[in-house]
Amino acid sequence: MRLVTVQTEQGPRACAAWQGRYIDLNAADSSLPSSVKALLALGHEGLKRAQLALATPKITYDPANARLLAPVPDPQKIICMGLNYRDHAAESNMAIPDEPVLFSKYASALIGHGETIRLPSVSNEVDFEAELVFVIGKRGRDIPQSEAMSYVGGYAVGHDVSARDWQLNKPGKQWMAGKTFDTFAPIGPELVTSDEVADPHNLRIQLRLNGQTMQDSNTSQFIFRIDEAIAYISQIFTLEPGDLVFTGTPPGVGMARKPQVWLKPGDVAEVEIDGLGVLRNPVA
Ligand code: MN
Repeated sequence: MRLVTVQTEQGPRACAAWQGRYIDLNAADSSLPSSVKALLALGHEGLKRAQLALATPKITYDPANARLLAPVPDPQKIICMGLNYRDHAAESNMAIPDEPVLFSKYASALIGHGETIRLPSVSNEVDFEAELVFVIGKRGRDIPQSEAMSYVGGYAVGHDVSARDWQLNKPGKQWMAGKTFDTFAPIGPELVTSDEVADPHNLRIQLRLNGQTMQDSNTSQFIFRIDEAIAYISQIFTLEPGDLVFTGTPPGVGMARKPQVWLKPGDVAEVEIDGLGVLRNPVA
């Protein structure tokens, strides 16, 4: 199933993308929740009921006019992995890490497909990073690597927008500050449930800036695979349904180019991942 969150006059509504429409799941079956996070928490049973509800739509939205939020606009946690593609670690002049590099963003940074990335006036070096995002589908702590993939509820296209001057040139190299300005976490358009993604470790991932390809790689280049990441992260804290995990970016970011390329007003950034869709955001 392909899940979206549509912003409506009644607030955010969980919908399924189905036959060219967004179908409001709670309107179709009042026993279903109106948030994607709560739907994920119901597990396979909830998704089965959501699938059945598609046969009796009551409220639907036209994708051409609908305003999308991030598929999960209200996660408890947004966890990000840095330096998770071998070639990107090399272009950043950083050693290949022997454990995952973690940082975080806040939900205040989330925007959906079509929403505007706002360049902060206090940064002159805002960069782009195409990323696969996986979404936690069930609660877990100290999850064994062998069981970890069963904790993934789905996948989405993500963009880890990064202010390099704040990330790297402040005392103590403050990754959090550089990574979580408002609008710096576009995700979408859809959350594609795990059953529809045959192999998340073999997906082509690309970023185009104003139509020009800047990044073009494959998730087969991960240093830490998703199951390793879940086992590692869940040693630290409990993972909850709806938690979002950014999995790092491949080579080709603006910082590593000669001359360097920074986002500027009027740009359009597109991230595309095989089978998951295209996430497009203007820059202002
Ligand atoms: Mn990143």
